[in-house]
Amino acid sequence: MDIKRRQFLKIAGLSSIAGIGAPAALQMLFKGEFPNSALASSAPSGHAAPAAAPTGKQYGMVIDHRKFVADPGLAQKCIDACHSIHNVPNFPSRKDEIKWIWETPYENAFTSLPNQYASEEVEKSRFLVLCNHCADPPCVRVCPTKATYKNKDGIVLMDFHRCIGCRFCMAACPFGSRSFNWQDPRPFIKKYNPDFPTRMRGVVEKCNFCAERIAKDKEPACVEVCGGNKAIVFGDLNDGHSEIRMILKENFTVQRKPELGTLPSVFYII
Ligand code: SF4
Repeated sequence: MDIKRRQFLKIAGLSSIAGIGAPAALQMLFKGEFPNSALASSAPSGHAAPAAAPTGKQYGMVIDHRKFVADPGLAQKCIDACHSIHNVPNFPSRKDEIKWIWETPYENAFTSLPNQYASEEVEKSRFLVLCNHCADPPCVRVCPTKATYKNKDGIVLMDFHRCIGCRFCMAACPFGSRSFNWQDPRPFIKKYNPDFPTRMRGVVEKCNFCAERIAKDKEPACVEVCGGNKAIVFGDLNDGHSEIRMILKENFTVQRKPELGTLPSVFYII
């Protein structure tokens, strides 16, 4: 964590005691490095301005959990594909773990779907989870530096260079989809991919829906590794004729914590 990150956290702590918001704390620290308008629009009701004009797309995913039950090794293949291309470090201690996509038990994945008579198979299952790329993401609203933002296709991204490590986004995300680098991740990357940036200590990271691959008309790595078996279908939720919309029309699907109103873009067939 560099000096400015430390200073910010100190000032943010003091200013929360004094009742001053994070944007004001930033003004105190960075004096002119961030335009006023950028800070003003980071108030809780604002959204980060996308870098490019919106395309009207909202990318999303349908995860067909039945296919992961049928092929128990498939989830790990997805995790390995994602983590290897994105230089996700493999820290030895679980408390430092960085996760972009991972498996979690039913009761953690679907906390608002209590069913005392749920099938044993579902209750004992572990579900593949990741950032939901919410259509109304609270993490974006609270980021004081616009380090996290929605891109033109509705994907929630991180600008690692703008992240000051305040972790407001982690507190705001109700899904635990974000991880923090408590130490330098670079020595813990198994096989370095030079085509994707590495991170540094004090930076938050998470799944990016493979935005760098989508820009090249490729599928997300987790979708590709499933080998066309439709275990994960990715597409534009705003396109009524897309495959993902057909699947959503033909199947009963659930989202994680829909009652919170974040509008998750990841759906599950369970
Ligand atoms: Fe943000 Fe969490 Fe929603 Fe991802 S799942 S967009 S990190 S609130």
